Amino acid sequence: MKSETPVFELIQPSVLEWQQNLVNQFVELKQQQKLPHAILIELRTAVDSRSFGWHLVSALLCQSETPGKPCGQCQACQLMLANNYPDFTFTTLVDNDKTHKLNKDIKIDQIRRLIHQFTLTRNLQAGKIALIYPAEKLNKSSANSLLKTLEEPSSGSTLILLTHNAGRLPITIRSRCQKWVVENPNEKLAEEWLTKQSVPTGQVSEYLSLARKDAQLALQLFQQEFKQQQDHFSTLLNKYILNQMDIVSMVKSLKITDNEKLRLVLKTELQNMIYNLLQNELTIALKHKLSGLITLLTKIDSTLQTEDNNLNLLLQLEDVLISLKQLVK
Ligand SMILES: [Zn+2]
Repeated sequence: MKSETPVFELIQPSVLEWQQNLVNQFVELKQQQKLPHAILIELRTAVDSRSFGWHLVSALLCQSETPGKPCGQCQACQLMLANNYPDFTFTTLVDNDKTHKLNKDIKIDQIRRLIHQFTLTRNLQAGKIALIYPAEKLNKSSANSLLKTLEEPSSGSTLILLTHNAGRLPITIRSRCQKWVVENPNEKLAEEWLTKQSVPTGQVSEYLSLARKDAQLALQLFQQEFKQQQDHFSTLLNKYILNQMDIVSMVKSLKITDNEKLRLVLKTELQNMIYNLLQNELTIALKHKLSGLITLLTKIDSTLQTEDNNLNLLLQLEDVLISLKQLVK
């Protein structure tokens, strides 16, 4: 038994209906000894997907006879569940030693450790597997340090890069991997799935459209009561526009700490405004307003997108809100 504690919480493998097919294909390739050495998998969801990565790796390592579904019982599954499989390396965002906050990128030291692991002799028959997730968080130097391993694989080793956005990975990495995509389910399947997850039938399509057809995100938003937050935001925004509240108190009262959610709330608000405007006959003044709102919507995507620093984020939010007020006043 290894004594060191895992650096991240134990991860439960899980898979969704529309992801299973890909897992089956990989297990089949492995059985035929045709599994590519470097695999890049893009998931079209914004929701944390490490448990899918865990499922995939467990399925590849599982010693049972049911291909594609880790049995949970065999030695490999047990070791994976305990985060203790000796030939498996998981590289992800970790807490900074000094600040104890989550790093924004995957550091070169982490990749060096992975590469070192790959050079060691394997302990078990199945071969070595490394999973990097979210791979779009590799920084420039960690991506560069990975290139040689991608080019000159040690035999019997598999490197899986799991990402939400393959476009953010350097082309040098992408060109050295076999790329696969897990698409989101079609609308019918997504609706059925959300209903099964106890989203009320009347709200399913609303959340699905809020999440831009990302079924997992739709569920997450539902669970986080996005709708209530959206309404709260609208109320505060109205007060601010009517001069019943100043900008600083408004931003404070928002109490949204999650950047992704903040972006969604803001975007939804703007999209609603645009939609409402389009119900009118467009006068020159309204056209002007419309183009202003669209510009602002694009701005949210480009500025708030990259901002992980909370103070900066709030400043940018204020900036957007001030422009918005000027537009709709
Ligand atoms: Zn098993």
